[in-house]
Amino acid sequence: MATPTLDKDVSRQTSSLQYLPDASARADDASPNQFLMPLNAKVSDRDTLEIGGCDVPELVKKFGSPLYILDEQNLRKTCQQYRNALSNLYGGESLVIYASKAWSCTAICAIAHSEGIGMDVVSGGELHTALQAGVPSEKIYLHGNNKSVEELALAVEKGCTIIADNWFDLHNLVGLKPASPVRVMLRLTPGIECHTHEYIRTGHIDSKFGFDPTQVEEVFDFVTQQDCISVIGIHAHIGSQIFELQPHGDLGDVLVSWFKKAQDRGLPVAELNVGGGLGIRYTEQDDPPSIHEWIEVVTRSVTAACEKYQVALPKLICEPGRSLVGSSCVTAYKVGSKKTVPGIRNYISVDGGMSDNPRPITYQSLYRSVVANRMSATFSETVTVAGKHCESGDVVIPDAKLPPLETDDVLVVLATGAYNASMASNYNRVPRPAAILVNDGEANVILRRETTEDLLRGDCLPTRLQG
Ligand SMILES: *Cc1c(COP(=O)(O)O)cnc(C)c1O
Repeated sequence: MATPTLDKDVSRQTSSLQYLPDASARADDASPNQFLMPLNAKVSDRDTLEIGGCDVPELVKKFGSPLYILDEQNLRKTCQQYRNALSNLYGGESLVIYASKAWSCTAICAIAHSEGIGMDVVSGGELHTALQAGVPSEKIYLHGNNKSVEELALAVEKGCTIIADNWFDLHNLVGLKPASPVRVMLRLTPGIECHTHEYIRTGHIDSKFGFDPTQVEEVFDFVTQQDCISVIGIHAHIGSQIFELQPHGDLGDVLVSWFKKAQDRGLPVAELNVGGGLGIRYTEQDDPPSIHEWIEVVTRSVTAACEKYQVALPKLICEPGRSLVGSSCVTAYKVGSKKTVPGIRNYISVDGGMSDNPRPITYQSLYRSVVANRMSATFSETVTVAGKHCESGDVVIPDAKLPPLETDDVLVVLATGAYNASMASNYNRVPRPAAILVNDGEANVILRRETTEDLLRGDCLPTRLQG
């Protein structure tokens, strides 16, 4: 298995070139989540960063900044790796579904769909996006710990599968009086801990998501009495940005034991959904397993548990979000102001920040960056890359190793495909950036940059305030 050989000693990293994918990226089995940049990223003979055959400083000239740049081949390769690993390593039927909350937009959903990937959605908006992208409802699964009746009704009407998270969902489903039985999976809290930020842990018992294991029997009692609910499977998701393999190795047994119980109760269970959570590389310190390794652990644990509990292999579903899209995108900013606090810190500010990437301020997430217009410039300074928003915490990268930067340099922050655009806001009434899709030298807008008009569109001025 090819793995990148990124030097973990930051002091030995001397220019942006060191973050480029190494020779291992050319291997067929290179796992995109282990690289800081899309696998085809390279430096041009003009010393500029090239992604998807497009010159990044030129893209910024043409499309403005901040700019999300999404590499189509990298995204497709990631989808293919998930799909191929799952179908090659698992003996039964399987489906990969994209946890679209990581970045829900029509183009990304359409690309994932064209690679045979289904869709996990958690709101009416994400559901509409998946449908607009042409994803068939048989491949759409609705999640959420507080689905509105309208969202449930829409998903039921379209024929999606509902992942029931709690009693509220079950009662609301019954209340909808659906004409034919609704396909429902039950989300259970497996009581599995993993080492990740507490805001993105979901498998522990004290979680807002899923039925508590002590309620399982009662839930089974209830659903067996409802003609309009057809429980077709069991689901659990234990958290996000996980580097350990053990939690998913443990999950198979827990899930299959519940699957077996459901089967013994006469429920028509046929699908098992192990959630997502595989981590990606954001810095040289991160060492996530490859997609193949992760799928291997998942399939082995489910297969062993099926043998143990004597059940036929169910249809196996996994739902990656971050690791499906995260490593395929970078964000390009332009450098603006600079500030030196003598003896303490140097700041440079970029033309975006927490509005286009809320992860640093939300989870203290770390990122790495490169200077797209001077890739081989020596890293001789330690500077804090600040955003433009009115919060001291709006720091994109604290203590970044960079060359001396000038106004209008193009600073590119790496691995921003997941939970950036989808969590973007208009804080300080800053328009959200454009996103472009690059492939083989071609660049297409997939998200139009917001305009002042967009920002003001929802504003209403009551007549008595109109002067
Ligand atoms: C967020 C989420 C995922 C995806 O998690 P990633 O860490 O982005 O892979 C999968 N399933 C459920 C239910 C989720 O809430």
